[in-house]
Amino acid sequence: MAGGIYDLVVRGGLVFDGEEVVGRRNVYIRGNLIVKVTTEEFSAANEVDARDMFVMPGLIDAHLHLTGIKGGSLLTGYLFDDARVRLLRAANWARELLIAGFTTVRDCGEPNSIALRNAINEGVIPGPRIIAAGAPLTQTFGHGELSHSIPLKWSIGLGFAEICDGVDECRKAARKVLRSGADFIKIMATGGVLSQRDRPEWAQFTFDEIRAIVQEAEKVGTYVAAHAHGDLGARVAVEAGVRTIEHGTLLRDETLKLMAERGVSLTPTMAIQELIYRYGKQIGIDPWGLEKIAEVRESIANVVRKAKEYGVTIIMGTDLGFKTGLDIDMGKNWVELQLMVEVGGLSSMDALRAATSNAARMLRINAGFVREGSLADIVVINGNPIENIKDISKIINVIKDGRSMAEKGSLIT
Ligand SMILES: [Zn+2]
Repeated sequence: MAGGIYDLVVRGGLVFDGEEVVGRRNVYIRGNLIVKVTTEEFSAANEVDARDMFVMPGLIDAHLHLTGIKGGSLLTGYLFDDARVRLLRAANWARELLIAGFTTVRDCGEPNSIALRNAINEGVIPGPRIIAAGAPLTQTFGHGELSHSIPLKWSIGLGFAEICDGVDECRKAARKVLRSGADFIKIMATGGVLSQRDRPEWAQFTFDEIRAIVQEAEKVGTYVAAHAHGDLGARVAVEAGVRTIEHGTLLRDETLKLMAERGVSLTPTMAIQELIYRYGKQIGIDPWGLEKIAEVRESIANVVRKAKEYGVTIIMGTDLGFKTGLDIDMGKNWVELQLMVEVGGLSSMDALRAATSNAARMLRINAGFVREGSLADIVVINGNPIENIKDISKIINVIKDGRSMAEKGSLIT
């Protein structure tokens, strides 16, 4: 029966609501909202037949970089690729992400992501809802410089990060990125793998600098996410009030306990580590990245186990930032969920929570759940990722904001 009071129904699928499997349900949508999840049968203007399928909230990748860079060298990409070409490539990535089931992504550092977000919100190009950091904040000789051999003014000219030192400059840089349209502020609180001469365990920025940035973010109702591998830098960032620790590969027990206490979540980003470890040379990762990857990759599994034990909220994020053409790639971001289970030792249910309800709560968006009143962001899967996490890749339909991508004339046919 056509018509009815609902715009769309996703009928008869086994529903994971973001926290639990609730059973076979019909999900009724009006406009961009889920208005009823029930076993009752009603008609709707459009119908997605999900019988024998798995239905869950749209996936959230809470850490990626929409750089539009091909191959593995960020430095080369930022030095030599025209920013407009990178933006156009990234627009295509956005489309691929949506088809892969990602209805929301958080870009943790790439100035172009603000323009992409705006274009997607206007309906000009298809893509996930983007929550954008714009340019990340880094200190001089910090992770955001990428290279510490090129002249400092080239580093500034790369256009990737805002370089700031001291409380006043940090405040100004925070205000600049917020002015540029950033939804939150990303800071580099330790050295990293893909930056040349700093070590992952080195702390970057002082407590006072990070505190000032947190204050500027909170004044406009947002928050700070901190890139941090080493324990000291992470601890300083947590004490200064950041909301999320990104990577966290070398976190010690005391810091994890403090994170649990303060509600600071962890994004383990195992996909980037596996990518660099397995294929770094092949894809042209800068040599310093190849040297530093082993130590952070080795310790992350234990950190994820401990984080779970201490009650730290774990969020799904890949940290992918370039196109590789391999089995770990932008557009295959669900690889992170497999790694969370296979390497991190999480249950498949916990991995799915990390990519839905946990991420949505941290981001404070009205998505991440298949429940009445939530945004209608839904994926339909031909398999059961609770039984086998690898099934997460078997996505046959994506609904974002109540619009099914499998409808005539849209992305998936
Ligand atoms: Zn990152």
